[in-house]
Amino acid sequence: EAAGDTALIAALIAAAHDTITTHRDELSELDRAIGDGDHGHNMARGFDAVAAAADEITALPFGKALAKAGTTLVMKVGGASGPLYGSALMAAGKVRDEAPTTLAEVVELLDAAVDAVKKRGKSDVGAKTMLDVLVPVADALRAGPAEPLGTARESAAAALEATRDMVATKGRAAFLGERSAGHLDPGARSSTLLIDAVSAVLEK
Ligand code: ADP
Ligand code: MG
Ligand code: MG
Repeated sequence: EAAGDTALIAALIAAAHDTITTHRDELSELDRAIGDGDHGHNMARGFDAVAAAADEITALPFGKALAKAGTTLVMKVGGASGPLYGSALMAAGKVRDEAPTTLAEVVELLDAAVDAVKKRGKSDVGAKTMLDVLVPVADALRAGPAEPLGTARESAAAALEATRDMVATKGRAAFLGERSAGHLDPGARSSTLLIDAVSAVLEK
């Protein structure tokens, strides 16, 4: 229903923007260890633009709003993460116009987002990327847990930690080879932040 979606979309934009802004330096610090140090800057630039377009985005049906946020990220972010998160949101936005109302529908959106990242990034789980958080969270939710929001947060945190020992085979960190091990993946961290932010909104 339109009015409900407007409030939901506004809350999601505010929560995502807030967490990315708050953790901007942390994300860039993680990227400094195994990349080029700009992940926080890239994400903040993208979500600043999404927040700036909030009035326009919140007026759209839920699916179209996701897609519009996605194209905004693709246009505003220079780094790899912009096109990847952007494609994820554009694909999720295409699933249906209405906001998801069941856990199964949320999983459908996540699956569409994951498939888009895999395709755009020519990557899969185990390459030490955002997929190493997004896929385990989608799978944990697919199992139909009794407390989906807690499950989403816990599986994201565990999956993020598991990226530490991985050797990167995609993205800039792959240039480091074995030396990429011993550090969390920055994109896995931003995915965890976004999942936590969405969970907090849905909890209300
Ligand atoms: P850049 O590497 O262009 O500077 P960012 O620093 O903003 O871009 O984003 C880096 C993050 O993007 C990585 O930590 C990783 O999670 C994600 N990433 C990079 N390449 C890929 C890929 N091919 N598939 C999936 N995720 C990727
Ligand atoms: Mg970078
Ligand atoms: Mg860069």
